[in-house]
Amino acid sequence: MQKYGGTSVGNIERIRAVARRCLATQRQGHDVVVIVSAMSGETNRLLALAKQLSELPSERELDVIVSTGEQVSVGLVALAIHAEGGEAVSLLGHQVRILTDSAFSRARIKEIDARAIGSALKDGKIAVIAGFQGVDESGNITTLGRGGSDTSGVAIAAALKADVCEIYTDVDGVYTADPNVVPNARKVSRISYEEMLELASLGAKVLQIRSVEFGMKFGVPIHVRSSFNDNEGTWVVPEEKAMESVMVSGVTATRDESKITLHGISDQAGIQAMVFRPLAAAGIVVDVIVQAYVQNGRTNLTFTLPAADLARARDLLIKQCGHLCTPDQIKAETNLSKVSVVGVGMRSHAGVALKMFEILARENIGVQLISTSEIKISCVIDEKYAELAVRALHDGFDLDKG
Ligand code: ADP
Ligand code: ASP
Ligand code: MG
Repeated sequence: MQKYGGTSVGNIERIRAVARRCLATQRQGHDVVVIVSAMSGETNRLLALAKQLSELPSERELDVIVSTGEQVSVGLVALAIHAEGGEAVSLLGHQVRILTDSAFSRARIKEIDARAIGSALKDGKIAVIAGFQGVDESGNITTLGRGGSDTSGVAIAAALKADVCEIYTDVDGVYTADPNVVPNARKVSRISYEEMLELASLGAKVLQIRSVEFGMKFGVPIHVRSSFNDNEGTWVVPEEKAMESVMVSGVTATRDESKITLHGISDQAGIQAMVFRPLAAAGIVVDVIVQAYVQNGRTNLTFTLPAADLARARDLLIKQCGHLCTPDQIKAETNLSKVSVVGVGMRSHAGVALKMFEILARENIGVQLISTSEIKISCVIDEKYAELAVRALHDGFDLDKG
């Protein structure tokens, strides 16, 4: 099972390289199933086309449009395998039957029928499957969210009980920080599913978070590696004892965060449910929530949310929480970033949070909100300091040293 991302199928030369790698794997005696993304930049191009026609396009039609990027790639990869003298057949989501729910643009895989893939393999063919796309019960095309081909790859590996899911990308593996931001970031050889889940959800786009969830749930080892060389990459595996000796294993940052503060609202029971009910009903995901007691039965409630949802959330609060506060008590702020340090070693080491705050203080970076879990600490800061913070934390925790 091999999955190739956008850069790895970015042009015809790269597609030929994919074909050669698939054939080399087949020659070693393996059945080969390959999942491919759209050529790099293609999904963005398709989204931009749709946006020219509508600010708020129908999500069903958007999925019809963006899923075509993968349709082109699978056809080209199959042709490239033919050109190298091999046998291959392309399969789209509905042809495999990757059944999903109907949440367009963020669908979840419910079931994968392995029969079409099985019969291609039985005929000695390489099965070339379109990532990112599926089909719902009614036959509508769905897509799995940005970066979703990773999830297609791991889910298909789980359905086929493959020994490993190889994720081929444009970097050598999972690094201690985004190697395109931190030049001295170090590739880690092994990382636990749990740490990878945190890194993925906190901004490291090298794997889509749901792919890691699938890997963890079905015990599929994921090998993240480069399609540009034969180097050993990073293995995402169950936690091992040795991993705990490292205090922090990665630093990451999300962008385009925003926050809303409701100032001086009445501190009565049930107030939080009243605030978050309309947001949940509108499908808005809130993240860090902080409530601070002020005085005289009045409190400040602050939470973060994606910048893209800010205007809608503010409108909903003004409309539906009019009895809680006036519009001028609702303060919105955008251009924020959440920087995080992640590591299972935090469970057994004291002082990680202190060290993080000291490093940020040294750079004069103000921390607006803090949130922690067993294996991560996140600070919400001004977005313009995000890269500086990531580099400073990477140096401060000596992540380049290993
Ligand atoms: P693909 O098109 O192969 O799916 P992506 O662009 O989705 O590739 O993911 C690979 C990119 O993830 C890298 O180019 C890198 O910039 C970024 N990245 C962010 N954080 C990390 C990290 N901790 N380790 C490796 N890559 C990272
Ligand atoms: N082509 C899709 C995207 O750009 C899926 C993927 O690359 O994994 O998000
Ligand atoms: Mg990706």
